[in-house]
Amino acid sequence: MTTHKCPNIEEFKGILKKHSLKATPQRLAVHEAMMNLGHASADMVTEAIKEKAAAKVTVASVYNILTHMAMLGVYNYRLSTNNKMYFDVNTFKHIHLYDQENHMYKDVIDDELISLIEAHLSRKRFKGYRVEGIDIQLMGRPTRKKYII
Ligand SMILES: [Zn+2]
Repeated sequence: MTTHKCPNIEEFKGILKKHSLKATPQRLAVHEAMMNLGHASADMVTEAIKEKAAAKVTVASVYNILTHMAMLGVYNYRLSTNNKMYFDVNTFKHIHLYDQENHMYKDVIDDELISLIEAHLSRKRFKGYRVEGIDIQLMGRPTRKKYII
């Protein structure tokens, strides 16, 4: 059975400990924000932390924590079409729906579709390459118009 959950704050502390890293207020605040945001750039995470006055941070320090966590495999990252680095709190296999208007990612959980694609690809050979992973991204726009107040 695959889990479709990101690490909670206690599990996150465990991950830090495993890597001999201190559970600093900054690191915890970053993970707290990531749990709420799901997918976010360093700017977005910094803003969320500042709003909650959770810890003293700068965009640079948040970016360092995010990239460090990504290096350890705690977060995934992806470059959006508006050229921003987004970090993803969910590292289990999932599909993305990219909102081309608001530049936001939504998770699409569909293990069946991923299995179908993986099974299909396992029978294919790509000359000169070994496939290391798949990354499925749907592109979309909101169907509902936003109300302007
Ligand atoms: Zn995601």
